[in-house]
Amino acid sequence: MSIRMLRCFECGHGYIGDDPHPARCPACRSSLVPPAGSLAIFDQSTWKSANGLSKLRISAVDEHGRLFEFGIAARNGMAKLVELRIDDAPVDPRFVRTAVQIPSLIETKLEETGLSVESPVDSFPPRSSARD
Ligand SMILES: [Zn+2]
Repeated sequence: MSIRMLRCFECGHGYIGDDPHPARCPACRSSLVPPAGSLAIFDQSTWKSANGLSKLRISAVDEHGRLFEFGIAARNGMAKLVELRIDDAPVDPRFVRTAVQIPSLIETKLEETGLSVESPVDSFPPRSSARD
């Protein structure tokens, strides 16, 4: 059992959780909290747009049976998390950009497809400065 810092994607409450943790925020009881225990990927789809931007959708379940859908944008070999849905509820994009870490399992999956995971938000090349 490991102790880690968790953040609720509904109210922003930060708390210390065991792993696997009860999949609820202790402050607001929301279930929009990080995966509990390990994730299991069960589906993955990729599509490419004409401007060279690829999008990936990876679906996984955690140990509480919650469905996590990671929407990932990829460009020039770099991947960035742009969307997260938990049990079909969208997580506020502010949290997706600032507080959600791509789980290592997803990161490994992305690396298998030749992508590196880019963590800092502002270094992602803005559309206007694309050189390809
Ligand atoms: Zn909360």
